[in-house]
Amino acid sequence: MTISPNLSPDCGNCFALCCTALGFSRSADFAIDKPAASPCPNMAGDFSCTIHQSLRPRGFSGCTVFDCFGAGQVVSQQTFSGISWTQDPSSMSSMFAVFKIVRQLHEMLWYLAEAGERTFDPDLAAAADQLSEGIAAAAQGDAATVLAADVVSLHGEVRALLMEVSDEVRASYGAEDQQTVDGGVRAGADLVGANLANRRLCGADLRSAYLIGANLRGSDLTAADLLGADLRGAQLQGADLSKALYLTQPQINAAEGAPTTLIPTRLTSPAHW
Ligand code: SF4
Repeated sequence: MTISPNLSPDCGNCFALCCTALGFSRSADFAIDKPAASPCPNMAGDFSCTIHQSLRPRGFSGCTVFDCFGAGQVVSQQTFSGISWTQDPSSMSSMFAVFKIVRQLHEMLWYLAEAGERTFDPDLAAAADQLSEGIAAAAQGDAATVLAADVVSLHGEVRALLMEVSDEVRASYGAEDQQTVDGGVRAGADLVGANLANRRLCGADLRSAYLIGANLRGSDLTAADLLGADLRGAQLQGADLSKALYLTQPQINAAEGAPTTLIPTRLTSPAHW
């Protein structure tokens, strides 16, 4: 039986794969341009970040938002047996390519774990387990196995299951509430800067909605589907997201909150809240 991987980052056991494999462009989130497959100039020789304590004031808020879902340590310590790309430069391109895929696989595992816990239907829970087992096996395989994974097809299967569970869970919270739909609260909606404060958004479908800078202060998002919703700068002070669906650490990291913001127990409050 495949062992479920730890889906939380363990940076101390990673060869700074997010700081090297991935590229970013100069923007509000990154102070510099950095091409993919190149080490960030702020990275130290031991793979730590030399500006870790001051990322936001120095213009690197994007680094505080990113989360690898535990892919970094798996690729560094298991797939490549603890031999870094500095020790063996010939492994660099393969290691970086594997990291990008394992991160996606681990993200799928994160969502499936929640779907399995939230569904009331034992058949759906069993389907989530089965899918997770296959994805975990692919993520824990050797480099060739990981690179051969059909990520697009897996994404499709996972998404279909997540949506089925979402429909089921949201239905018990008034998901068909026409007032919510009429008010512009719907999947993929452009709600940038919208005032949604003190609203009962229970069971709302906010999948892939643009909630950048939206005011959600004091709102109840119990069973609201936030799969892929863009929460950058969203105001979550006093909001209840403790039972929101498919909320991830990067979404929380990108939002603004406070100790009064309720989040799911498996997420942690960002340092800037
Ligand atoms: S600034 Fe620090 S955390 Fe961000 S990519 Fe560079 S080394 Fe990594």
